[in-house]
Formats: sequence, C-alpha cells, structure tokens
Amino acid sequence: MGGLGNLEPGTEVPVSGKYKCVWCGTFVHADSMGRFPKIVPTVKFFRAGKTFKMCPRCGGSTGWTLIEECQPTVKWWEFWK
Ligand SMILES: [Zn+2]
Repeated sequence: MGGLGNLEPGTEVPVSGKYKCVWCGTFVHADSMGRFPKIVPTVKFFRAGKTFKMCPRCGGSTGWTLIEECQPTVKWWEFWK
C-alpha cells in the first residue's frame, strides 16, 4: 500500500476509490467526564486523475488513505452532488 496513505489535499488521486481521512479524531479532547467523543472519520470517494480535496473537519492537515478501491458508479455520483 506504499504511496496510498496520508495523501495531502491537492495531490493527484492515484486510484479511484474510497479514502478515509486519517487525522479525523486524532486531536479530539476528552469532555468534562473524561470521555472521548466518538468521531467517525470522513470518508469520501475520489476519482483517479483528480486532486484530493480537504477534509471538512481537518482542512489543510488532511491525510487521505485508501480504504477501498472502486470505480465510480451512478450511486457514488449521486452521493457526490
Ligand atoms: Zn479529517
């Protein structure tokens, strides 16, 4: 999986697939009860040849990691609108 982890926004997408932001939830703070909130990492579909966008939660420090290689489908394009 070399080269398919922690990819920065603006980097060219190497393969079409679903990518997870590795930084989501990394810097969360415990609440007053000492519990850590459950953070669901941002997962987005990116198409090969396009460039990565920023994670809405992490902005410029986003790091995208491939979790599932897949081709764009009607379903995903509907999701993307
Ligand atoms: Zn993120």
